[in-house]
Amino acid sequence: MIDILPIRIQRTTASRLAEVDLDHIEFGKVFSDHMFAVEYRDGEWQEPQIVPYGDMAVSPANSALHYGQAIFEGMKAYQQADGGVALFRPLDNWARLNASAERMCMPAIPEELFMQGLKELIRLDAKWVPAKEGSSLYIRPFMFATDGFIGVRPSDTYRFMIFTCPVNAYYNKPLRVRFEQKYVRSAEGGAGFAKAAGNYGGAMMPSKLAQDEGYHQLLWTDASEHQYVEESGTMNAIFVIDGRVVTPALSTSILDGITRRSVLQLARDWGMPVEERKVSSLEIMDALTKGKLHEAFGVGTAATIAPIATIGFEGHDYDLPTVGPDAFSKRVSAALEAIRSGEATDSHSWMVKV
Ligand SMILES: *Cc1c(COP(=O)(O)O)cnc(C)c1O
Repeated sequence: MIDILPIRIQRTTASRLAEVDLDHIEFGKVFSDHMFAVEYRDGEWQEPQIVPYGDMAVSPANSALHYGQAIFEGMKAYQQADGGVALFRPLDNWARLNASAERMCMPAIPEELFMQGLKELIRLDAKWVPAKEGSSLYIRPFMFATDGFIGVRPSDTYRFMIFTCPVNAYYNKPLRVRFEQKYVRSAEGGAGFAKAAGNYGGAMMPSKLAQDEGYHQLLWTDASEHQYVEESGTMNAIFVIDGRVVTPALSTSILDGITRRSVLQLARDWGMPVEERKVSSLEIMDALTKGKLHEAFGVGTAATIAPIATIGFEGHDYDLPTVGPDAFSKRVSAALEAIRSGEATDSHSWMVKV
């Protein structure tokens, strides 16, 4: 791809990099020096800019604040073994952002605008990509309505932005989760497949209730029967039952995770049977009590793989067997890490150099 869009760059005169210890970062609290921003107005995207990271002004009547036209993505860039920086499946994030935009009546972002903005930004802040094993640069692209108008209708104006945060390896403490059979994260026909801000807001109270009971997160079930597994917290859920990799099939209520997609691809590459279908809480509990549920884990960009140690169901807690070093979740996590750092062959062309 040739760089065709002129991106106006205003460099910071006060880099904060020297103040940051890239080996000890609290997730999501440290932001790189610059951010990318482009306005949508008069039916088209205007001139893109890269400016120093900082606060911005919005109208109190901003329609994203009132009616929730706000979507985002989460992705990562990795320091490569041979030097340089590469992104993991960025076009998948671009396509998903546009799927979310369509669902929320927001304008699509052209591929060149997304990719060039992303690459320029990361090149400019390349020194913020941590080198330590397991570390990466977390990237947050997002779009929101900017009309200062409180009538209920899709906004005429929007802002698309990208900022980045250096992050360290996520400590995957084995999770205690419980089936949620009262509240729902999303319903068939809703916007659960979109990475829309409101999906997160609505999930916080039920998650807080579970945390107060000593669980880390919920295993969401379907909205109509509260029987079938949807997701685990804000991650997709994957189970290993009797040597088969089993995961809920995608639907309008489940977010199509890129980590999920990648894990299933590796399982298929390794010749494991993969089943994308309905998975009921009863099936999981039956397999667990019969010793056939070998592994359960959440998958997502932030944590990659978050193993589940305990599942709460109808007031009782059930422990999974402890996973050994040969467990699928361990092997797939190591394989993804090796592809992302450039140490392993990237046979699916997932990595894109910046
Ligand atoms: C982002 C997200 C995921 C994980 O998607 P990845 O592309 O793997 O990061 C899963 N579920 C929900 C609800 C999400 O918002």
